[in-house]
Amino acid sequence: MGLIGAPEPVPFGSKMVAPVIMAYGNDEQKQRFPPDILESNVWWCQGYSEPNAGSDLASLKTSAVREGNHYIVNGAKTWNTYGQYADWIFCLVRTDNTVKKQEGISFLLIDMKSEGVSHKPIYLLDGHAEVNEIFFDDVKVPVENLIGEENKGWTYAKVLLTHERTNISGVPRGKRRLRALKRIAAETDDGFGNSMMENQTFRNRLANIEIELKALEFVELRTLASVSAGKAPGPESSILKIVGTELAQKIDEIFVDLAAYQSLPFVPEQFEDGFQGTPIGPGNSAAFALTYFNNRKASIYGGSNEIQRNIICKAVLGL
Ligand SMILES: Cc1cc2nc3c(=O)[nH]c(=O)nc-3n(C[C@H](O)[C@H](O)[C@H](O)COP(=O)(O)OP(=O)(O)OC[C@H]3O[C@@H](n4cnc5c(N)ncnc54)[C@H](O)[C@@H]3O)c2cc1C
Repeated sequence: MGLIGAPEPVPFGSKMVAPVIMAYGNDEQKQRFPPDILESNVWWCQGYSEPNAGSDLASLKTSAVREGNHYIVNGAKTWNTYGQYADWIFCLVRTDNTVKKQEGISFLLIDMKSEGVSHKPIYLLDGHAEVNEIFFDDVKVPVENLIGEENKGWTYAKVLLTHERTNISGVPRGKRRLRALKRIAAETDDGFGNSMMENQTFRNRLANIEIELKALEFVELRTLASVSAGKAPGPESSILKIVGTELAQKIDEIFVDLAAYQSLPFVPEQFEDGFQGTPIGPGNSAAFALTYFNNRKASIYGGSNEIQRNIICKAVLGL
C-alpha cells in the first residue's frame, strides 16, 4: 500500500493495540476485539499523552478508580490522532498513587461513546485538525476492559510503543516519494538549461537519502522477521523511528526546494474528496509545503527523537 500510495488503515488498531491484546489480553478479549480491527470495522485511537505527561509519560494522572464491576475514569488526554473518528481508545490510566509512578499504571480499553467522554480539536501547522484533546468526566468503564493485570500497564504500554515506532519508519512510503522526486526533478529546469536530475549536487542529495533508506529497509526487515517469529520488536524500533522520520523530513525539504515558489500557494481544497481544480506546478507542487509543515510532527510523535536517542543510549549501547 505504501509503494503505490493507497490509503492505509489507521494504525492504532492493527499496528498498536491488536499486538498488545494478542499478547496480554484474556481469551474473551482476544475473541472480541481483533476481528473488527482486522476488518477495519472499528477504529481506535491512542490515549497515552496528557497535558503534563509527554516525554515523561509515567507522570500521567488520568485516574481510574474501581467501584464494583467498573472503573470510574477522570482526566484529560492530548494529541490524540484521529480521536474525532475513533470508536474506541486504549488508555493508560493511574490505578495506584502510592507506589513508584511506573508501577501504578493500567491499560484500559474505553468505548468512545461512553457517557462523559468528549473531545476538542487541535489544529496543526498545515491547518488541519488531525489531533485532539479528549476529556473523561466520571466515565464508567467495565472492569472486563482492563488488559492484563491492574498496575502492570507500563509493561504493555512499552511493548505497544515498539510496534508503533517500527510502523513509523515508513520505508515503502519513502521509496514511493523518492520515485516521485526523481520524476519531478527530471521535469524541472536547473536554471542552466539542464534538468535537476542532471545536476550532480542534486543527484548526490538524492543518492544519500536512497542509501540510508536502503539501510533502513534492512533493519526493518530484520525487525519484522523477529516479529513473525513471535517476538515483539526490541529497542531497535527507536532506530527505525529516528531514521525513518529524519529521512521523511529530508524528502519533504527536497520537494519544497524543487518546487520553489510553486510550493507556496495554500490550496486546502485540493485535499478534499473530488477536487477538480488545476494542480499547481510540477507534480502538484502546492501540496509540498503543506506536507512539509504537517510532517514536522514526525520527529515528535511516537516519542520524540531526542527521547529515542536516550533509549538507544540506555537499551542498545548500555550507556
Ligand atoms: C501530531 C502529533 C500526534 C500525536 N499523536 C498522539 C496520539 O495519538 N496519542 C498520544 O498519546 N500521543 C500523541 N502524540 C504525543 C507525543 O507522543 C508527544 O508529543 C511526545 O511524546 C512529546 O511529548 P510533549 O509534547 O509533552 O513534549 P515534552 O515532553 O514537553 O518535550 C519537549 C521537548 O523537550 C525534549 N525532551 C523532553 N525530555 C527530554 C529528555 N529527557 N532528554 C532530552 N530531551 C527531552 C523533547 O524531545 C521535546 O523536544 C502526538 C504528538 C503529535 C505532535
